[in-house]
Amino acid sequence: MTAPGLYAAVVGQERAVAHLMAAARAPVHAYLLVGPPGTGVREAARSFAAALVCAEGGCTQCEVCGRVMAGVHPDVRFFERTGAFLRVEEIRPILEMASRSPVEAPRKVLVLVDFHLVAEQYPRLLKAIEEPPPTTVFLVLAEHVPPELSTIASRCVRIDFPPVPEEVVREALVAEGVNAAVAADVAAASAGRMDRARLLASDPGFVQRREAWRAVPGRLDGTGATAFVLAEELLAGPETMLAPLAARHAAELAALVERARLYGERAGERKELEARHKREERRLRTDELRFGLSALAGAYRDRLSSDRHPGASLAALEAVAAAHEALVRNPNVPLLLQALLVRLGRLG
Ligand SMILES: [Zn+2]
Repeated sequence: MTAPGLYAAVVGQERAVAHLMAAARAPVHAYLLVGPPGTGVREAARSFAAALVCAEGGCTQCEVCGRVMAGVHPDVRFFERTGAFLRVEEIRPILEMASRSPVEAPRKVLVLVDFHLVAEQYPRLLKAIEEPPPTTVFLVLAEHVPPELSTIASRCVRIDFPPVPEEVVREALVAEGVNAAVAADVAAASAGRMDRARLLASDPGFVQRREAWRAVPGRLDGTGATAFVLAEELLAGPETMLAPLAARHAAELAALVERARLYGERAGERKELEARHKREERRLRTDELRFGLSALAGAYRDRLSSDRHPGASLAALEAVAAAHEALVRNPNVPLLLQALLVRLGRLG
């Protein structure tokens, strides 16, 4: 019997969870879980893995479930990259573990994280994922499926994790004890990602930062000097946000140290954790900028409704949207923002 609490950490993904619960009864060799960060993909993979190795199908109460949830069960492994991509030496242990028999459970579960970034090592993994031994189950996690992964996608059962609806994020935050007004604000700015929503909810500077972005149109005076000062101010904002993230990272590291004390530490585990923390910090800065640009666009949209000559506000909205799109190309962020503000200042 699957306990209802098994997927408690996966918020607002009823369809995906129902799919996984059905799959656990007669699992196939590979699943592809697709969704942006914060939509519950990682949590769902861990719960599903527990369902696959626990004799009771993921009871959450037994010692096997406990070890899967703590990340120390020998038949459940998360494989994470330490660099920008999975490297050859990180592939080898995956292939080795895939070919071996389970240590104690009826099967073993290999979770491949960030598979959308695996491109170079793809052919070697494809073969392993296509034809694993009958006791091996692959859980392939990806934020999206680029064209080069379409072959592997066709070999897996695909389960999608769409962004969590704003209302569900809000309710989940309130259930976690967040003040209702803060929860509503944060849910609107979270873009359907629970991880970001939780981080914003624990960040007292959130409202202030949003207001700073919304105040930009009123502060621009058409000079480059003002644009420059504003850009500096806005980019300094996220620094206050790094504190809650750093606190979470410290807690994760402490948990790892405690696990290591009880069960011993797997080689490379600490390095993987630190690499993930660095990625999360980079992502946070980009997320913040996206959030700021959205707040800025909101300010121009508000102007639009009271504008007698909407041309300037429309042009401003277009400029902000272009800057937003440019973010995917990893630009020099200060330059991008300065150029945007100079342009907006000239629009008046
Ligand atoms: Zn159990």
